[in-house]
Amino acid sequence: MSDVVTKDSANINDSSATTDSPMPIPDVDNYVAYTIRNTKALPPITWSNLLNEINWLSVYILTVPPLVGIVGAFYVKLQWQTALWAVVYYFMTGLGITAGYHRLWAHRAYNASLPLQYLLAILGAGSLQGSIKWWSRGHRAHHRYTDTELDPYNAHKGFWYSHIGWMLVKPRRKPGVADVSDLRHNPVVRWQHKHYLSLILIMGFVLPSVVAYLGWGDAKGGFIYAGVIRLVFVHHSTFCVNSLAHWLGETPFDDKHTPRDHMITAFVTIGEGYHNFHHQFPMDYRNAIRWYQYDPTKWTIWVLQKLGLASHLKVFPDNEVRKGQLTMELKRLRRTQENLTWPSDSNDLPVISWDSFTTQSEKRPLILISGFIHDVSDFIEEHPGGGHFIRNFIGKDATTAFFGGVYDHSNAAHNLLAMKRVGVLHGGSPHGLDDKRAIPPSQRLKIARYTELLSPGSSSTYSDGEDGLL
Ligand SMILES: [Zn+2]
Ligand SMILES: [Zn+2]
Repeated sequence: MSDVVTKDSANINDSSATTDSPMPIPDVDNYVAYTIRNTKALPPITWSNLLNEINWLSVYILTVPPLVGIVGAFYVKLQWQTALWAVVYYFMTGLGITAGYHRLWAHRAYNASLPLQYLLAILGAGSLQGSIKWWSRGHRAHHRYTDTELDPYNAHKGFWYSHIGWMLVKPRRKPGVADVSDLRHNPVVRWQHKHYLSLILIMGFVLPSVVAYLGWGDAKGGFIYAGVIRLVFVHHSTFCVNSLAHWLGETPFDDKHTPRDHMITAFVTIGEGYHNFHHQFPMDYRNAIRWYQYDPTKWTIWVLQKLGLASHLKVFPDNEVRKGQLTMELKRLRRTQENLTWPSDSNDLPVISWDSFTTQSEKRPLILISGFIHDVSDFIEEHPGGGHFIRNFIGKDATTAFFGGVYDHSNAAHNLLAMKRVGVLHGGSPHGLDDKRAIPPSQRLKIARYTELLSPGSSSTYSDGEDGLL
């Protein structure tokens, strides 16, 4: 934003002139930490230095249009043709940013023919968000250094900072290095940079007024509604990608950083609201991967391809996209798993001899099933099949009876049974622990961390004494 009028101001944030062609490859463990340690930042903004640190050009650009729009709306009646034109022009100039600045130039998500590039560059200029080169340079840094001090709109600095605050004050440090050498050699990008001031005046204000004047004689309405007020909406639509899209919604593909997916964000940003997906797969021409999700920018690019104006639309391999989704689902399931109480396994239980088991069964109701000894004292009367079945098997091996000899119990019954484990029978069980029936159904499929899979399980050791259980 800060370079919308002069080329000099575009260089405030732009370290690309000296650092990104060819891009240096630092030999450090952590580039962000290294850069923060070794580069100087301006002092933090305080009330005492605030006036000196304000980026006045951006302040004017971001405050004058809303004020003019509000005042103008009082004096200029809104005609329906002008209202319609303002909405259409909002989408046209917005797409200049989303399909042009963002997905074409910042991310190279597809190839655009020369006429389309000029069209997007012109429409993007009508959004007054800086030149393609400046905008893309900052956005590439945002992706490379998301949520760090080198991210120009670091979401960790708060919603309003990432929305608008970062433009209102002079940046505390340069954004991290990002390669924009491709853009520097692009003739359309160079052309736009050169004619930027004329383009923003014509596309921002003159064209919307002229169309309304020639179409239905409403030059003033065209200026206020399709020019000024439309501009305010386009501004905040784009700003929401840096604020709302890093704050509201879900993280279905990765939760390492702040970007999130939400339908509301998509509606206010012409489809840029599936930002969690976008940060994971930034070169994908899509933000929304489902047909029913709102992504008019994707639809536009697709139509442009059908018209022969765009080509080589990049799509990330579905197999890799689904891996991200699976990882997040597994994380959620892991949390559910960790919040449940699980039975003790054979490593945690005392190993009891048959003699000890039968002896102790005389003092309390113990039943052997699948090699595990269970204390069923709190369940005898609760047993749906009747307490007498349980009493009949106290001090005995009820494995066959439990698994169909008397009644083929449900998985839920097996899970519940496992919660009553108090010991493991040593040796003598005909239904050893290798038996699948020793593992309750709820534990046959589990979420395990990589490191847990690597660590060898300890084997149970014989630990019985006469009072091994008690
Ligand atoms: Zn982002
Ligand atoms: Zn992006």
